[in-house]
Amino acid sequence: MSRLPEIFKLNTYELPRRAGEMKEYELDIELLEKVGVELIAVQAGEIIEVDARLESVTEGVLLSAEIFAVATGECIRCLDPVEIEIERRIQELYLYEQKPERKKRTPVQDDLDIEDELLLEGDYMNLESPIRDAICLTLPINPLCSDDCQGLCPDCGLKWVDLSDDHVHETIDARWAGLADVATEEPDFKN
Ligand SMILES: [Zn+2]
Ligand SMILES: [Zn+2]
Repeated sequence: MSRLPEIFKLNTYELPRRAGEMKEYELDIELLEKVGVELIAVQAGEIIEVDARLESVTEGVLLSAEIFAVATGECIRCLDPVEIEIERRIQELYLYEQKPERKKRTPVQDDLDIEDELLLEGDYMNLESPIRDAICLTLPINPLCSDDCQGLCPDCGLKWVDLSDDHVHETIDARWAGLADVATEEPDFKN
């Protein structure tokens, strides 16, 4: 049933199930696979640090956490390595698993996006989706080494910043090549 990796699961058995009880946890989650967007991510083998505070409330357990991680990727313009420090605060309510008699919902309640609800799995709290969302929302879809990165010369692939201001490639421009043809054809045209 649970295909999600165990590494994101927090065992909350030490937290008394009495509203107002509180407990703090520090987790180092070592990733088995990267978490992020296509071009930049917290890579497999890297650690996501989570400072979590759990609070028992009537309906379940409230998670407040700070997430720290370092994402790495490549600048889309110059391909230099890009590193982004992620520091993000999340808060989520995990509901107690519902007893069968409470599962009956009115049609109105059925329309609400129930899938977004987080449920405790027994004593376990699965942190994967809130952590994944927080990281993915922090990361840029198009990472840049700096906002004014000038990228690469399309002809030689070198960085514009490393090239002289008058850097050009001596290539025959298609327009000039066309004119050359016209010039040689001109005598025939006259005949
Ligand atoms: Zn760049
Ligand atoms: Zn060039």
